[in-house]
Amino acid sequence: QRILVTGANGFIAAYCIADLLKNGYQVVGTVRSIEKAYAVLKAHQHNPSLILEIVPDVTKTTAFDKAIQGCHGVLHLASPFGYAYKDFEAELLVPSIKGTISICLAATKTPSVKRVVLTSSFAAVFDASAGPSPGRIYKDDDWSPLTYEDGKTATATPVAYRASKKLAEKAAWQFMNEKKTAWDLITLCPGMVFGALFPGTLDSLKNLNTSNQIVWGLIDAKEVPDTKAPLWTSVTALARAHLHALNVQEAGNERFLVINGSFDNQELADIIHESDRIPEKVKERAPKGVPGSRLTGKIFTADSSKAVKVLGLDLDVTQQSLPNTITDLVLQLADIDAQS
Ligand code: NDP
Repeated sequence: QRILVTGANGFIAAYCIADLLKNGYQVVGTVRSIEKAYAVLKAHQHNPSLILEIVPDVTKTTAFDKAIQGCHGVLHLASPFGYAYKDFEAELLVPSIKGTISICLAATKTPSVKRVVLTSSFAAVFDASAGPSPGRIYKDDDWSPLTYEDGKTATATPVAYRASKKLAEKAAWQFMNEKKTAWDLITLCPGMVFGALFPGTLDSLKNLNTSNQIVWGLIDAKEVPDTKAPLWTSVTALARAHLHALNVQEAGNERFLVINGSFDNQELADIIHESDRIPEKVKERAPKGVPGSRLTGKIFTADSSKAVKVLGLDLDVTQQSLPNTITDLVLQLADIDAQS
């Protein structure tokens, strides 16, 4: 089986590709430049089952037509995720939505493709206008109320990002339903994805992906920042969810929240200070805040039981606990920081 993975140089994609290769798949990855292609090949130790295609502009309707040839499934991860964008329509909404449509068009022209798995987000689920909503449990069929106009005219980047994810996911469902495609669709909606970077994929902290920046953002911070999105997903659990999404027949045409649990920035600070693996010189760079104070009970949560049941996912926190995940990440980033 051959799988197309878009955005192959991304944080989450690296783990998805590694899982696919480990499980005997052929992988075609797409990236935007030749330098990124070489870096991905190197990170996966030039595995002969991995090839890379350069797709410089995902918004072109034929962008993926060549890369997808002979593929049986797609993991679509290429999409902008960051908070430094200025032109929200050009930099977030257009690539996210049009990139998704390009993938749907390419899959439709390729009879071997049976399934498209879209990496959506809790951003597509979350209704920020409802406020903290203590007691509310978000479910797999909840949707953000944001419109294209909301994203385009937003005054804060997270709003535009959430709109870009919601509208891209909606576009995929609409495409599949209207065109009655031969392939089925699965969408995965993770929270903030944390985890050490796949070995060999991060050369400088300047290139750290957006979600892990929340963790590293505590280092040298004066105080513990407010928590913006209090749900987290382990990158290894999420990669496993992508693999199972390709494999589990009855998961077709379903949407899944894939969330390990709740977190808040104070908890991240406490984990750093309580860790017996993180050296003192790193700990003392993180603010202490008010140890032990938590958002628990003061804010919404989410229910991932459908992913556990249907995708057969193990979101067991003893395996992928927040303390282990954060400690591994901080140790890795502190090392990179020390070398720079
Ligand atoms: P990364 O920033 O590490 O990877 C993003 C990938 O998308 C890169 O390959 C990047 O390529 C590509 N990309 C970004 N902008 C564009 C664009 N305009 N056109 C084409 N490709 C683009 O992020 P993650 O691995 O964290 O994210 C991967 C996917 O998971 C995204 O769809 C994201 O929305 C989703 N997601 C992530 C979460 C998280 O917390 N990390 C949570 C929920 C969903 P390049 O290097 O060339 O920019």
